[in-house]
Formats: sequence, C-alpha cells, structure tokens
Amino acid sequence: MSDPVDPTTAPADERAPSPDVARATEPTPVDAPAAPPAGVRRYTRDGAAVTYEVALCRHAGECVRGLPAVFDTARRPWIRPQNASIDDLERVIALCPTRALKFERDPGIRAPAATA
Ligand code: SF4
Repeated sequence: MSDPVDPTTAPADERAPSPDVARATEPTPVDAPAAPPAGVRRYTRDGAAVTYEVALCRHAGECVRGLPAVFDTARRPWIRPQNASIDDLERVIALCPTRALKFERDPGIRAPAATA
C-alpha cells in the first residue's frame, strides 16, 4: 500500500484534476521520449500520445466522464492511454475545454474518415 499524498504539496506537474487524491505511487508516464516542459506530463501508447498541462486544468471532468478507464484521478499514473482506442482518446480529449489535454496521433496511424 502506498503512502497518502497531500495534493497541495505534490509537485504541480504531478497533480491530478481532483483534490480527492487518496494515494500516489511513483508517477511513470509511459515511454516518455524526452522531458516535456515543466508542468506538462506526457503519456504514450502505441500510435499516440497524450500530454497534460496541470496549470490549464479547470477540473471540468470531461476526461474522467468520457473515458474513466483512461482518466482516473485516484491512481498513478492517472492517465493510462493504453486503456482506450486511439480514436476514443482523440474524441474525448477534444472535449477538454481548456486544452489542458492534448492528443498526438503518430503520423503512420490513420485518423478515422469524417462522416457527412
Ligand atoms: S477535461 Fe481538461 S480541464 Fe477538464 S478535468 Fe480533464 S484535463 Fe482538466
């Protein structure tokens, strides 16, 4: 079991949107190729990456409601992009009202065709 964490003293770039953080383990974004800027965390899966900028998050919860298997503020890392399809990640991240979340699709992965 991990130690409880005080969300007010955790490093800003490791805070999840909810203040209800009960515990934390070492945050380990998956396969981060290079250090992102301070306050930005990067999480990758095959074919895509998600970045999260804590300073922009306004706790609207669109991410948690849209893909609870990916965005779960009660666990670390709180973003697990491997738990959804690339298309679902793109769809839900587009709902983030502040652009705290950003989505990148690898160039070799085709986006779904637009429907009329
Ligand atoms: S949808 Fe965006 S602003 Fe809302 S909680 Fe998620 S990251 Fe924060």
